[in-house]
Amino acid sequence: MKTLTEHNAMIDSCVNDTKVGAGVLCPMCFEYKEEIQMYFTNQSIVLLTYPSKQEVYCPACGFNDFKLSL
Ligand SMILES: [Zn+2]
Repeated sequence: MKTLTEHNAMIDSCVNDTKVGAGVLCPMCFEYKEEIQMYFTNQSIVLLTYPSKQEVYCPACGFNDFKLSL
């Protein structure tokens, strides 16, 4: 387990990197057998719904949608 300081430093470094992969594949490209990773449109914006969600986009086809998080 990380300390609070280490955890916060890791999150800070992610927030400062605007090209953070969302860890999911684009469903549109996937239909054409292309495995394109989606990226967060803005890593620092999380919608406070339940579950929370963040906007993601595909750099290849431009598709965007929301990724839910627990
Ligand atoms: Zn795509």
